[in-house]
Amino acid sequence: MLILFFIFLFGAIIGSFLNVCIYRLPLGESVVRPASHCRACSTPLAWYDNVPLLSYCILRGRCRSCGAPFAFRYFLVEIFTALLAVALVHRFGVTVTALGYFAFGAALIAITFIDLDYQLIPDVISLPGIVTGVFFSLVSPILTVVDSLLGLAAGAGVLLAVAWGYYALTGKEGMGGGDVKLLAMIGAFLGWRSIPFTLLVASSVGSAVGVGIMIRSQADSKLAIPFGPFLSLGALCYLFFGEGLIDWYLNLL
Ligand SMILES: [Zn+2]
Repeated sequence: MLILFFIFLFGAIIGSFLNVCIYRLPLGESVVRPASHCRACSTPLAWYDNVPLLSYCILRGRCRSCGAPFAFRYFLVEIFTALLAVALVHRFGVTVTALGYFAFGAALIAITFIDLDYQLIPDVISLPGIVTGVFFSLVSPILTVVDSLLGLAAGAGVLLAVAWGYYALTGKEGMGGGDVKLLAMIGAFLGWRSIPFTLLVASSVGSAVGVGIMIRSQADSKLAIPFGPFLSLGALCYLFFGEGLIDWYLNLL
């Protein structure tokens, strides 16, 4: 139990760092300096006001000096990252596999929120992510190097083919290059079998959400809905439930 508590704490601290990345990376700012500060009044946060999860609750989501509200999303990212760390240790134990997939999951969380804000997936996350995925396959017992490389190629290849096909048919660019690199990273970490699964989950959930938004806002179909969050969701589903679901499905046939 104690170990899970420390894992939770570790996850929350990394989540706090992810918040900094999500806010600063797209602006091209350093994620190390300056120290965290209130965006409204620029007062630097004292260490006791910068404790993950706890400070948000104690300060009720407001700046101590000027009272400006902090986005609830900061709290959400911290608790989600903490729960991810606990779930991974529960599934894989305190192993290099759990650590590798935690790095992978943390990258997916940062990508999700940056893509929601800017419709952009930064190369500084996805490209090192691809390389890390291949290195991960060298040290993790549950993924072979061949599987990782096949996953990388399948992830990049499928979306490149879709993008080219869409361009050939419509003369417009439908899919961003960021999505291609993201799916390549997912394949490198999870192996080639994850690619059809991730695409199926991402396109089903993505279309459902897209239709929902269109009905509510009565906007036309050109409304830009980023695909990265749905790919990330599909990848996390595969990580935790994929093997089981695929076995279940194959047994049906
Ligand atoms: Zn303030």
